[in-house]
Amino acid sequence: MSAFATCDTIRDFNLLALLEQNGLKETTPRLLVLTYIASRKEATSRACLSNALKDQVDRSTLFRLLQTFVMKNILQKVLDANGITSYTILPHHRVGQQQQMHFNCTRCNHLYYLQEHHMPAINLPVGFTKEFCCFITYGICQVCNKC
Ligand SMILES: [Zn+2]
Repeated sequence: MSAFATCDTIRDFNLLALLEQNGLKETTPRLLVLTYIASRKEATSRACLSNALKDQVDRSTLFRLLQTFVMKNILQKVLDANGITSYTILPHHRVGQQQQMHFNCTRCNHLYYLQEHHMPAINLPVGFTKEFCCFITYGICQVCNKC
């Protein structure tokens, strides 16, 4: 599978603008990592990224890039039921999205990104301000349910 199906992905998320807004130069490794994560329907672990981009981005660069993207609030860390960290692009970077909902399969451990599903409104206590929401449902996925 090519990581770059994805002029559309770059445009949908406006990844170039995202880098620029955060004071990051447009480098090939940065674009490769963001494009790969943005193009997937599930949260992406470092191991998965490392494997997919192994010929293009070395492991220490990948490690540093992910740290930078999280620090700049471009990526969000999502922990699965086993405590493995995966990454998604924060929802407010996609037009019209302020929230994201994930489904973590407790059998195959896939962390699905449920793009079309919406969460109920969350009423916060006075004095709290919502920036974004991330919601994870744990259970058995469609694929494992067929086994
Ligand atoms: Zn599953």
